[in-house]
Amino acid sequence: MASIRFSNITKRWGSFVGVDNLSLDIADREFIVLLGPSGCGKTTSMRMVAGLDDPTLGDIFIGDRRVNDLEPKDRDIAMVFQSYGLYAHLSVYENIRFPLKVRGIPNAEHDAKVRAAAAMVELTEFLERKPKALSGGQRQRVALARAIVRQPNCFLMDEPLSNLDAKLRISMRAEIKHLHHRLNVTTIYVTHDQVEAMTLADRVAVMEKGRIRQLGTPTDIYNNPANLFVAGFIGSPPMNLIEGDIIDGQFRAEGVSVPLPFAGSRTDVVLGIRAEDLRLTDPMYGHFRQKVYSVELLGDATLVSQRIGARLITARADKGFRIEMGATSAFEAVPSAYYLFDRVSGDRIA
Ligand code: ATP
Repeated sequence: MASIRFSNITKRWGSFVGVDNLSLDIADREFIVLLGPSGCGKTTSMRMVAGLDDPTLGDIFIGDRRVNDLEPKDRDIAMVFQSYGLYAHLSVYENIRFPLKVRGIPNAEHDAKVRAAAAMVELTEFLERKPKALSGGQRQRVALARAIVRQPNCFLMDEPLSNLDAKLRISMRAEIKHLHHRLNVTTIYVTHDQVEAMTLADRVAVMEKGRIRQLGTPTDIYNNPANLFVAGFIGSPPMNLIEGDIIDGQFRAEGVSVPLPFAGSRTDVVLGIRAEDLRLTDPMYGHFRQKVYSVELLGDATLVSQRIGARLITARADKGFRIEMGATSAFEAVPSAYYLFDRVSGDRIA
């Protein structure tokens, strides 16, 4: 059993609160991603599970065991870092073997275990090389092999892909997903990259300022963001967010008037619409009619942006769609695609 529980965990340094009363239950075999901007407390949360930082308040459990007072080496955890953390003077083989030696696993078992782990990440032909003779992606594979070689209770991965170029990141992402499927080991994965989070996670914990702002499956978080922070953080391009007021069932902002599917008035709201939910339409009818501010060809789609006040709003059109910069464009959305937030609290209201 390797469930992991954060129970009311706070981490302070002096008066600065890095992690703020965090509670989170991670199921056995679950792949959970801690996602958030730099400084939101992701790494610190993970380091407390590893025993590299002590919580100021609260308890951490691995399985049924409270581990606050347990040495890192006794927690049966393997970590993978952005910086790989390989020993330069050791061969790939010896790097992968290292945790077996440290843990006193009988020598007779080493060779089979090292070769099995290396095979799993396709490193068999590189076993005699030193890390400096490997590419970044290969080095990260060595780090992964070293993590899996002793079959720990859980993996902790801190931005393991962020040193790799964009193409390698995508292939290593698939590799990590495949490994999890094969090994089924509870994993906490830290990243600020929402695409990584969405593609890898069983559940994502979106963090801001030491707190979890939303916890849910990737689909949940994408389709039902609980607040402005999550809405603006998840999605590429991010959700269009337009500040305004509701007057008699119409959303009003500078140069914009959008009928809403309900009556009533309310000040200080934010209307949210995802780019793929905005359609380009006849300039006679669209709710958002402005000159085209930019056109971006992505290959699989075309992004068309208008400027409303100080903000850009972006529609995702088909890949073949073409429009001139400066031409008048019109966007419309189906009302069911609208999200409404309270501008002050940031909470979702509809
Ligand atoms: P990043 O993506 O940049 O790694 P993060 O979300 O992992 O960010 P943490 O490393 O957990 O963030 O840090 C959370 C906050 O705690 C940050 O504001 C950081 O400056 C602060 N912090 C971390 N370690 C210490 C420390 N030893 N002393 C004081 N403050 C710290």
